Formats: sequence, structure tokens, C-alpha cells
Amino acid sequence: MSDGLRCSTCGQDTVIEIELTLPDGSAVVFCSCHRCESKWWDRDGEQLDLDSLVDVTRREP
Ligand SMILES: [Zn+2]
Repeated sequence: MSDGLRCSTCGQDTVIEIELTLPDGSAVVFCSCHRCESKWWDRDGEQLDLDSLVDVTRREP
């Protein structure tokens, strides 16, 4: 599928990407590493804190 995406924790390219659109309309990518089970969010190539994302998803439209 996509290449070049590597886990910043273990350095492997066993990363699964899931694209999501948040309630506020912004697109984010949920990334999960198969190998070390690291998880992170990515928006426009920028990693997001889980905390700030929870903030966004809790906002009701
Ligand atoms: Zn990893």
C-alpha cells in the first residue's frame, strides 16, 4: 500500500494506517505499529497527541 511510513519507536515499516475524518471535518490518519504496538495520530504529516485528539472528538457538532 503506502511505503515510507516507519514506526518511530521500533523503526520497522509494519505500520497500519487508517484514515479518519473528525467531527470538525479535519482528516487524520491513525497509525498503529504491528510489531511494537505503538499508536499515534497524524495530521498533515504532523503527529498529534492522543490528548488533543480526544479533545476534538469530544466536541459535539
Ligand atoms: Zn513499532
